Amino acid sequence: MDSLNNNPAPATPDRLADFCRVFLSENRAQWPPDENSLATHFVEFFKLQFVERESLKRVCQDLNIKFSEGQLPKGMKGYNHCYNGERTIMIATDQFVPGASFEHTILHELRELMEYVFRDLGAETSTGAELEKRAEQFA
Ligand SMILES: [Zn+2]
Repeated sequence: MDSLNNNPAPATPDRLADFCRVFLSENRAQWPPDENSLATHFVEFFKLQFVERESLKRVCQDLNIKFSEGQLPKGMKGYNHCYNGERTIMIATDQFVPGASFEHTILHELRELMEYVFRDLGAETSTGAELEKRAEQFA
């Protein structure tokens, strides 16, 4: 995954990276950050009045994240991918996993995409299972 660091910056404005940079500069003293605080800042930065399906889809669009819904392997609620500065989120059409909701899943995937930016900024917060836990707290 080191190749990600060598990619040229995308030509289009990258608001997700902007958000991560601002948040990091304000919270570097207490890194890794509190996920509730990160979530609060995210909602403010992107002026999310209601955390619901349509506004979250709009945020993805604003952030140039390719968003889609579709069939995913059983038990998988969502999926994200970051390659060559291109970000993708796919959400399972059927949120059949107990306790899952569309909104929760998309926020979880957004948080994992943020981690790529933090990593590029040299401020990784976590990996693997710990990142899963953080993404769940964030959502
Ligand atoms: Zn995850």
